Amino acid sequence: MRRFDNYIFDLDATLYRDNGEVEADCERLVDEFFRVRLGFSAEEARRQREMILQKYRYEAQAMENGFGVSEKEFMDYICNVEVGHLPPNPQLEAKLRRLPGRRFVYTDSTVGHVADTLCRLGVDLRVFDAVCDAERTGFKFKFQKESFEEFFRIYGIKPQNSVMFEDSLRNLEIAKSFGMTTVLISPRREEKAFADFRFSDINKALDAFVEE
Ligand SMILES: [Mg+2]
Repeated sequence: MRRFDNYIFDLDATLYRDNGEVEADCERLVDEFFRVRLGFSAEEARRQREMILQKYRYEAQAMENGFGVSEKEFMDYICNVEVGHLPPNPQLEAKLRRLPGRRFVYTDSTVGHVADTLCRLGVDLRVFDAVCDAERTGFKFKFQKESFEEFFRIYGIKPQNSVMFEDSLRNLEIAKSFGMTTVLISPRREEKAFADFRFSDINKALDAFVEE
């Protein structure tokens, strides 16, 4: 495998195998935020979320204009998910350390959630040169090209010299459009039009990319 200058990792369902619990807990917290913080009934909360998703694609982007609540407050609330059930991955840190380039976590969540998750997995946060969360990209998200552009700008990243590990085909499509090498992490044999490689889990992917 060729060397890359930058090894870029999504967090959720990429650096650990997701069986849906983390996502479900996040969904529960979004619902709770609408009811408890914004004061909507359960039914009105559902209606508001549908309207927002039609207009913005993601609830965070409606917070400031729609409800006078900062995106940061919303994101901190909904990313405070339970990760105690995730199994530790004792091999992950050593595999990451063997990559011959800079290492990044690039996530639509929060630095706090990254720290909690890596701690649970048994990976020292300092293995990574940087963690880029949604706040760092000005609350642009990875389904937006602007998020990638901001990420490249902040860290001086040339996409052509970079590889991205992701579970989201939607995000990989954008990564590919910038000329990145793309690695889909998915246990399913799904369509991989935008993925240069697919591996069933992160350990197998890293085995293919680390130097012998
Ligand atoms: Mg993910």
